Amino acid sequence: MANSSGEVQAEIGVIGGSGFYSFLDDVMEVTVDTPYGAPSDSLFLGEVAGRRVAFLPRHGRKHHLPPHRINYRANLWALASLGARQILGPCAVGGLQTRYGPGTLLVPDQLVDRTKSRAQTYFDGEPRLDGSVPNVVHVTFADPYCPVGRRVAVDTARAGGWDAVDGGTLVVVEGPRFSTRAESLWHAAQGWSVVGMTGHPEAVLARELGLCYTSLTLVTDLDAGADTGEGVSHEEVLEVFAANVGRMRNVLFDVVGALPANSDRTCLCVSPLGGQEPGIDLP
Ligand SMILES: [Zn+2]
Repeated sequence: MANSSGEVQAEIGVIGGSGFYSFLDDVMEVTVDTPYGAPSDSLFLGEVAGRRVAFLPRHGRKHHLPPHRINYRANLWALASLGARQILGPCAVGGLQTRYGPGTLLVPDQLVDRTKSRAQTYFDGEPRLDGSVPNVVHVTFADPYCPVGRRVAVDTARAGGWDAVDGGTLVVVEGPRFSTRAESLWHAAQGWSVVGMTGHPEAVLARELGLCYTSLTLVTDLDAGADTGEGVSHEEVLEVFAANVGRMRNVLFDVVGALPANSDRTCLCVSPLGGQEPGIDLP
């Protein structure tokens, strides 16, 4: 817990920008430090559908952090230390198949990691900022996303009139550049669905901490291999994202209201270490 009384300050974490929380009443800004350094920004606490939610702008509130510079370990740790046990990770992606055009909401059930330089474990046997040294442990990651969170996300979006795609593979690239046409054609030929830059290592770090993590991907463009045009531009991505942010916020808030209580979780996410000793105190 971030405060000395051990009080839970948030049940659910949402990793997404200010478009998701700026209009909420009574948002409280809190700063959280972690043994892995500072998260992307302050965390913003608010109430949605009667649930206490912590919002964290993934790229910082001024969007100054590119995907490969985000301190993912600090971000997930900070959310967990406030009490969050279920995490929603909305993100913008490119569609790898023409049937997943701009405006598609896809809730992936698999991911492929093609990142290169990111710290992606809490358990690397290296001393942390506070001097403590975690053990080396291995978590199961065959199914990287929370099955309960996925179900809630798909059903809730559909009930609200957005025909979410149930399942698919998110391939995560290092960025910040977009894919070449050859890379994109290769990704598409594997049958993968969408491509983004932030979905990894968020999901695996959440798993290591015993958090439920659900990815909600919004397609903002067709990736180079699936598009006959000039390829992806940042303007195009921003435009489609801005046009859909209200819709995405509505879905997220409905999902927040429909998630189970943290104390009712029985999914595979709850005990990822399976008896392995972490060697450090987990939040
Ligand atoms: Zn779960």
